[in-house]
Amino acid sequence: MLDKNKVYTAEIIDYTSEGQGVAKIEGCAVFIPNAIFGEVCDIRIEKAGKNWAAGKIVQLREKSPHRINRACPVAKLCGGCNFHHMDYEEECRLKADRVRTCLNRLGGQNLKSVPIHPAPDTTCYRNKSQYPVSSIKNRAFAGFYKAGTHQVVENKRCLILPPQSDQVKDIVIDYMNQYRVNPYDESTRKGFVRHIYVRQGAVSKQILICIVVNGRKLPHVEDLIKRLKTIPRFTTLVLSVNTKPGNAVLGDEFITLYGPGYIEDTLCGLKFRLSPRSFYQVNHHQAQELYKAAIAAAKISTKDTVLDLYCGVGTITLAMSQAAGKVIGVEVIPQAVEDARENAKRNKITNAEFICADAGAAALKLEQQGVRADVVVVDPPRKGLNSDAIEALARFSPQRIVYVSCDPATLARDVALLNEKGFRLTSAEAFDLFPRCAHVETVVTMEKKSDSFV
Ligand code: SAH
Repeated sequence: MLDKNKVYTAEIIDYTSEGQGVAKIEGCAVFIPNAIFGEVCDIRIEKAGKNWAAGKIVQLREKSPHRINRACPVAKLCGGCNFHHMDYEEECRLKADRVRTCLNRLGGQNLKSVPIHPAPDTTCYRNKSQYPVSSIKNRAFAGFYKAGTHQVVENKRCLILPPQSDQVKDIVIDYMNQYRVNPYDESTRKGFVRHIYVRQGAVSKQILICIVVNGRKLPHVEDLIKRLKTIPRFTTLVLSVNTKPGNAVLGDEFITLYGPGYIEDTLCGLKFRLSPRSFYQVNHHQAQELYKAAIAAAKISTKDTVLDLYCGVGTITLAMSQAAGKVIGVEVIPQAVEDARENAKRNKITNAEFICADAGAAALKLEQQGVRADVVVVDPPRKGLNSDAIEALARFSPQRIVYVSCDPATLARDVALLNEKGFRLTSAEAFDLFPRCAHVETVVTMEKKSDSFV
């Protein structure tokens, strides 16, 4: 075990999944925030466990050529971003390597490399933000949580968000301070405003604002709307009622205070309606690249039936519908399914059907009903596929599975399980949808045949 507070000199040899540097000292893995691969540093041990420790750089002895000055003044404190201290080249390299390592170590593959599609813009790319609200000395402010805490770090201008998003945040905060509308306090469960949620259509520029409150009404709402109308393309204001303790940002009830309660945007040439509760990729440009790759990988013909599990508002389902005979989307959030059905109508798509259910359970049921699927697309949340979904994929036995993943570790676990069911990995590509943040998206194709692509 390493000594707490003792300073050791070591080289950074790897990264964790959150992008922290990793050094090996006396056989013990040490995790060091803000450290870059190849750097040699003096590290003070802050926490020491049996097989691992956490440390802090006290002096950089050999600096990486990829180290840069942080453009964001609160980057070190704010838990929103992870990579303001390194250049984008190194960030993409480490993300591609993380995907490769996961697929090899946890997925049983033997990939030499995985290509990554870097984002053309590393700033102002996020079309959605959820600012937690807090206060100091009766002054409300908003920002993002410090890593691993619920302590809000104030941020005047977040570099990965469009400026309009921060403008909305400032208007809501000014309104709160003027009318003494208190932020919610998690420890006492008193107070009112919990989060300010802003979503802007990348093409339409329409702005949806959702204020999450511990209650059902906003005081002086007319004045707030008047102020918000100074922002071009402000389209709708929705109240999300969340009176429950816990980490869930949105509540179950939504009350539209202004406008239609949703915005529209264009993606892959199609129009989409987006409600606050519906998932929509935050990086529009890169999402289109990702979907294009998924569509190409699916190799659909007009005779094919495509099953799109975890379909959200039907982005991939509808983008694939033109090439397919029939598409069936499955999604668990009712509002997203309503949006998906509406989106099919909006785009005059008549060969798409949407089911509101758990993806695995619905897929098993469809298979029992005799539905066949030539291609299955899955795009699950971070936890990956459940056993029902894996079983359904095995029973459907499609020609091809296109797996879109936001977590390389659960993707790799599922690839190994699907291998056992007779599917082989035939392609893997990573996409950076989250510059400066540790997340990475991957598209893999698995086919029912024995020749793998490595
Ligand atoms: N493919 C869509 C959405 C992907 S995000 C797109 O790219 O836009 C994952 C989606 O899975 C979310 O919409 C989430 O609501 C949904 N989801 C989560 N758990 C689910 C489950 N058990 N069954 C079906 N859908 C689920």
